[in-house]
Amino acid sequence: MAKMVTDVICPFCGTLCDDLEVSVSDDGTKILDVYNACAIGAEKFLHSQAKDRVTRPRMKQEDGSWKEVTYDEAIEYTAKMLADARKPLMYGWSSTNCEAQAVGTELGEMVGAVMDNTATVCHGSTLIAVQDVGVPSCTLGEILNRADRIVFWGCNPAHAHPRHMSRYSIFPRGFFTGKGAKGRKMVVVDPRVTDTAKTADIHMQVEQGRDFELLTALRVAFKGEWLPDFVGGIPKKTIYEVADVMKSGRFGIIFFGMGVTQSLSKNHNIDQAICVTRDLNEYTKFNIMPMRGHYNVTGSGEVWGWLHGFPYALDLSRGFARYNPGDTTSNDLLMRDEVDSVFVIGSDPGAHFPNSSVKKIWDLPCVCMDPHLTPTTAVCKLHVPVAFVGVETGGCAYRMDNVPIECRKVVDPPEGMPTDLEFLERVVARVKELKGA
Ligand code: SF4
Repeated sequence: MAKMVTDVICPFCGTLCDDLEVSVSDDGTKILDVYNACAIGAEKFLHSQAKDRVTRPRMKQEDGSWKEVTYDEAIEYTAKMLADARKPLMYGWSSTNCEAQAVGTELGEMVGAVMDNTATVCHGSTLIAVQDVGVPSCTLGEILNRADRIVFWGCNPAHAHPRHMSRYSIFPRGFFTGKGAKGRKMVVVDPRVTDTAKTADIHMQVEQGRDFELLTALRVAFKGEWLPDFVGGIPKKTIYEVADVMKSGRFGIIFFGMGVTQSLSKNHNIDQAICVTRDLNEYTKFNIMPMRGHYNVTGSGEVWGWLHGFPYALDLSRGFARYNPGDTTSNDLLMRDEVDSVFVIGSDPGAHFPNSSVKKIWDLPCVCMDPHLTPTTAVCKLHVPVAFVGVETGGCAYRMDNVPIECRKVVDPPEGMPTDLEFLERVVARVKELKGA
């Protein structure tokens, strides 16, 4: 006999779909099938059942081999590494719940760490732009029910957020959007002909790195003023046409991704995209929203925002909070040899940082707390597997529109395996002992 767990939250991408159904064995130990999720979301649940899953901490030996250790030994190593460090880097935080992020921040305060999350290599520039010029935004529910003008700029939800278009932005019929996709106009701006671009009403195939110019040209076109024949490779006729499409809607949204945040001009692109949105509010209601990747990267920014006022690149090493992206960001610190140990929590810098930074991590004492085997677990000194948040334990996560959602536990973790919150709480207790606090 199987039982069905309903209203399950998918802990994979920032869409945080909340309508999954998971079939579980009667004794509550095995996931049998996952319904309603996209392929990558379903895989996250099924992967927790993998036969080759690592279920005990492993310490790297001198000869490069791995030796299994107990969780008590792992707590001791992690606590000593952090307590002895002059300036540890505590990086990641995007694939865990807000409760663990809060306890981790307490730990960071105690050991004078620099806390950074994965925004440092994705939407950090967005956060800087929001601090510069503010952000007119809304919720995904409002988009489902109201939006008739949708712009995807430098993002490809068909692959990166596979249910975004079917649940919220393009296909569903909402309260004021009863015709579904037929009542919405979709514009995609991307140098590549992506699967998202193929479904658009208008695809502006901007030249690589020319987003800032095109955004500026749109602001000119809103006013009907003069434009050169081409901007960023786009004919002026198309720019005027897109400007008219945006102005003529009742409710619009610009979703943007790393194609704009990490291309030339970085946060200035987002400054300009927010100004485009602000200009459009002279004519209609328009909003802008980043397509956040990890399911709780938004939450880590929120938690640090409440606690210290800054959403990433949070330097606690002087006993008070400092924030200076480009200086207190992970890659800059690693390249300047400014940190002397690394604690990675629920993320994978081994896969996403430049090779030169990964080499620095390899040379330093490094603990990686992650349920998966990743490139980072290969370069760390101690790998601590923990329960999957959203599968084997619950907790709060923030969707890409800053809406907090309570994840559900579906099955028990392997016997004896702590959650990341439990592991962090025990490290905090041990650091307190070591520091005589
Ligand atoms: S779109 Fe994202 S949150 Fe929704 S099921 Fe797929 S991976 Fe999970």
